[in-house]
Amino acid sequence: MKIEKPEKLRRATCCVIGCGPAGAMLGLMLAREGVDVLVLEKHADFLRDFRGDTLHPSTMEVMDELGLADGLLELEHTKAPRLEARLPGGTVTVADLGRLKTRYPYITFMPQWDFLDYVTGEAERYPNFRLEMNSEAKELILEDGIVRGVRYETPEGPREARALLTVAADGRSSPFRDQAGLKMVRSSPSIDVLWFRLSRREGDPEDTFGYAGGGRFMALINRGEYWQIAYVIRKGEYQEVRTDGLEVFRRSVGETIPELADRTGELQDWEDVKLLSVQADRLRRWHRPGLLCIGDAAHAMSPVGGVGINLAIADAVAAANALVGPLRAGRVRSRDLMAVQLRRELPTRVIQVFQSVAQRRVVSSVLGPDGAPSIPAPARMLLRLRPVRSLPARIIAFGIWPNHVKRREPSAGTGRMPVARKDSVKWMR
Ligand SMILES: Cc1cc2nc3c(=O)[nH]c(=O)nc-3n(C[C@H](O)[C@H](O)[C@H](O)COP(=O)(O)OP(=O)(O)OC[C@H]3O[C@@H](n4cnc5c(N)ncnc54)[C@H](O)[C@@H]3O)c2cc1C
Repeated sequence: MKIEKPEKLRRATCCVIGCGPAGAMLGLMLAREGVDVLVLEKHADFLRDFRGDTLHPSTMEVMDELGLADGLLELEHTKAPRLEARLPGGTVTVADLGRLKTRYPYITFMPQWDFLDYVTGEAERYPNFRLEMNSEAKELILEDGIVRGVRYETPEGPREARALLTVAADGRSSPFRDQAGLKMVRSSPSIDVLWFRLSRREGDPEDTFGYAGGGRFMALINRGEYWQIAYVIRKGEYQEVRTDGLEVFRRSVGETIPELADRTGELQDWEDVKLLSVQADRLRRWHRPGLLCIGDAAHAMSPVGGVGINLAIADAVAAANALVGPLRAGRVRSRDLMAVQLRRELPTRVIQVFQSVAQRRVVSSVLGPDGAPSIPAPARMLLRLRPVRSLPARIIAFGIWPNHVKRREPSAGTGRMPVARKDSVKWMR
C-alpha cells in the first residue's frame, strides 16, 4: 500500500493510534502543550457498553489539575464513597474512600463514551489537535528499524500518517506490538466475568457492593437507573453456563441476590450478557525507536478493583510529562521512552500481583458448591488497625506512585480558542 498523493498523507509530531482513555488523554495533554498531535480512532463513535467506567480519585485529581474536573462532574454520573462485600456472615467494608485526603473521596461512575466525548471535546479546542474517526491503523511504517508512522484505512481509502513518535494506545489486542517485535509476558487469570444490567427500583440499596456466597461472586454497581452487574465465573466456564441455558442463569442470579429475583426476566437473550474474557499481560519493553505503547496495549488488567481505565490514564499523564520536551525539541530518544516505562511499569506490576491474589482467593474460597467465603482470623485482626484498614482504599484510589500533571497551565501560544458547547458558551473553535 503506497500512498503518494499529498491529501492522503498526514504529518504530525505525534500520531496516537486509538482514542480510548489512554489515547484521548495523551492527545489532550500533548495538544495543550503545543505539540502537533493526530489521533486515529477506528470506530465512528465512542459508544461501547461495559467498558472501564470507574474514575478513581487519582484520575479525578488529574482532571482537576487540567482544570477539567468541574466540567466533567457536570455530566451525569454516580459516586461510590465505599465498596462493601456482603458475605453470609455479614457485610464488610472493603474500601472506605470517604476518609481519604482528596477533593474526590469516591469512585465516579460515568459511561466511558461520555468521558471520551468530554476529553476529545476539550482537546479539539486546540488547533494542533486532530482526531480522525473511522480511521483504522493497519501497519507501522518502519524505515531503518525506526517507526516513522502508520498506514491506515478510512472510508475514503488508504492513508498514511508520518510522525516523529507513534503511540500505540489501541487496547489489549494491539497488533502493533507484534509488528514492532515487542514481547508480551502473559499470566493466566483464573476468572472470566459476565456483565449485564438490571433495573434499580425503589428501596434498593444505594451502595456499590460485592456479594459472595452460595458458590457465586457478583459485584453490583449503582448506575442510577440500573445496576451494572458483574457475575464472576471460573475461566472457561462460559460454554457450560450457555449450555445450561438462560433460565438457569437467571435463577442463579436471583438465588445469589434474592432482592434481584423479581427482575431477572429483564435478561431476554444472551445478547444482554456480555462476556469479558479476563486477560492480564504486560509488555517486557514498551517501546522501540519511534514507537511507544501505553494503556491496555502495554498491559491488559484484570477487572478486579476497576483500575484499567485509571492505569491507562496514568500512563498517558506519565507519557505527556516525559515527552512534551523531546517532542517540542523534535528529538525523542530511546531513553525518553524508557523513562515512561520506568515510571509506570512497577506500579502496574504491583497492581497485577494484587489482582492475581484476589482472583485466586475468589476462586478458592467463593466459587463452587461449597463456597463459604470468610475473612481469615489474622486478617480480621489486622483490619482493626487503622493504617491497614485504609490500605485497600488508598491502593484503589491512588494506585502505587500516582502521577500528576507537570504543568497545570497550558503552554502559551497553543492557540486555545473559545468553543460553543451545547450546554454553555465557553470557547469557540
Ligand atoms: C467488558 C469490559 C469491562 C471493563 N470494565 C472495567 C471497569 O469496570 N473498570 C476499569 O477500570 N476497567 C474496565 N475495563 C478495562 C478498561 O475498559 C480498559 O482498561 C481501558 O479502557 C483501557 O484504555 P485504553 O485506552 O488503553 O484502551 P481501550 O479502551 O481498549 O481503547 C483503545 C481504542 O483504540 C481503538 N482502536 C483499536 N484498534 C485500533 C486501530 N487499529 N486503529 C485505530 N483505533 C483502534 C479502539 O476502538 C478503542 O477506542 C473493562 C474492559 C472491558 C472489555
